[in-house]
Amino acid sequence: MSDDRIISAREQKDDKTWDLTLRPQSFDEYIGQTQVKTNLDVVLRAAKQRKEPLDHVLLFGPPGLGKTTLAHIISKEMGVGIKVTSGPAISKAGDLAAIITNLQEGDILFIDEIHRLNKTIEEILYPAMEDFALDIVLGKGPSAQILRLDLPRFTLIGATTRYNLISSPLRDRFGVTFRLDFYSSEEIAQIVRRSADILSVPIAQDAGQEIASRSRATPRIANRILKRVRDYAQVKADGNVSYEITRQALDMMAIDRYGLDDLDRRLLRALVESFAGGPVGINTLAAAVQEEAGTIEEIFEPYLMQLGFLSRTAKGRVATDKTYDYLGIERTDKNRLF
Ligand code: ADP
Repeated sequence: MSDDRIISAREQKDDKTWDLTLRPQSFDEYIGQTQVKTNLDVVLRAAKQRKEPLDHVLLFGPPGLGKTTLAHIISKEMGVGIKVTSGPAISKAGDLAAIITNLQEGDILFIDEIHRLNKTIEEILYPAMEDFALDIVLGKGPSAQILRLDLPRFTLIGATTRYNLISSPLRDRFGVTFRLDFYSSEEIAQIVRRSADILSVPIAQDAGQEIASRSRATPRIANRILKRVRDYAQVKADGNVSYEITRQALDMMAIDRYGLDDLDRRLLRALVESFAGGPVGINTLAAAVQEEAGTIEEIFEPYLMQLGFLSRTAKGRVATDKTYDYLGIERTDKNRLF
């Protein structure tokens, strides 16, 4: 239900058509995430100097922050091929075998949503990552035999929005792990300017900043809002994206100055009004707003926590003073549990 929100960080159908034009192709074009880029640069150079494939890399962080983009840039910088798949797309051992045996030496296998790989597949992946070998079971029962296939030395890049759902044996097999953080609003403004340039959208400086401040610190959302505002400017004005037009378009989409929409407000309101500010368990909260608990954890929470509008404690989710201020609800002693 929440997947078609303008401010959902999850990828939507429309995003794909833009992706190829807007996706940064090199580290220079990739704005922000300076620490990740600096560290990756060292790892890449070292591997190139040794003429070895890159260590397996795990990228984690909320959706829309640039994990897939980074994997593509790594493949370009290393000068190797990349095969893209995802945890839920690999349901049988044969699916994985077909992909891996087709890789060339040094190629990258990118598995998005790697936390959704099933256990059996994960276990096949261990020797593949460690020894570049694939164990195939032939036959069944006592006469079953294991055939070991040698694989090209490849690099696995795993991406996940849910680091805590990755089993520790899998985690341990990645040589390097990077966490992508939300972007600063200056960085998002830069991304908006870059995208507007590529798409030849005339945009005022303050309009770009306004989009940035309402994009939940997430490039995917910034690009999507830019597209909506561009349409609005074209239909309601002369096509120029001014500050005023941007404000009007964003207000029409009911995205407020924090980048929150009705669904976020409903969640915060439920927390405050139905559960006295918490603590409340994620499943109870999810049921109250008719969302999946996983969606709340992946899409709503990271940004609400970043804003300080929600806290996670051992006992459950709690509202903060900021939540009450935001909703304009007075916090009484009765509901001051946190
Ligand atoms: P994720 O894999 O983390 O969900 P993506 O790599 O698909 O995110 O990024 C979503 C979109 O946001 C990309 O298509 C790209 O256009 C844009 N983007 C992501 N990171 C950056 C960045 N650092 N600089 C510029 N644009 C970015």
